[in-house]
Amino acid sequence: MVRPCVGVLALQGAFREHAAAVTRLGAEAREVRQLGHMDGIDAMIIPGGESTTMGKLLVELGMLDPLRQRIENGMPVYGSCAGLILLCREIENSTQPRLGVLDATVRRNAFGRQVDSFETELDLPELGLPPFPAVFIRAPVLTGVGSRVRVLAEVRGQAVAVRQDNVLATSFHPELTPDTRLHRYFLDMCGN
Ligand code: GLN
Repeated sequence: MVRPCVGVLALQGAFREHAAAVTRLGAEAREVRQLGHMDGIDAMIIPGGESTTMGKLLVELGMLDPLRQRIENGMPVYGSCAGLILLCREIENSTQPRLGVLDATVRRNAFGRQVDSFETELDLPELGLPPFPAVFIRAPVLTGVGSRVRVLAEVRGQAVAVRQDNVLATSFHPELTPDTRLHRYFLDMCGN
């Protein structure tokens, strides 16, 4: 794909920064606010924000099932933080709406109130060196992953970056740093 059109779910949360990152890398970014905006996109980013709100809006707008279908048909998707939560099959202690395409169990707000947010140099071998500057904000962790899920990075022994075929997910926010390696990695998944 010469110049993929990447949809960025723009219902709520940190979507502008994701759009800026993919634009900087030469892809086209399209803010997706309703079902029709998904026509013609090659990939989708689901940003951080509030996963319960985003899930409810996806249901109300009739977008949850069509988006799930597109992902199951192979469209690359990247979810960060709340986006990761929405991708997971299991959400601990919650029945909130979700896409459920990632074979994993997630614990929301896993670092607790004491450490609301923090930044760490994350060892992410897939991206090479130097370590990735990872910003965590009321971040989730994956407490269980299925056999098809590849763990790309861990914090305190728990997965915070994973890939399952066309699905990429991180607990942290690469869009809030100038380091574009993770977005580059995602564009590579789009065949670019
Ligand atoms: N705690 C939020 C949630 O559960 C996620 C936080 C974030 O996206 N920065 O949806």
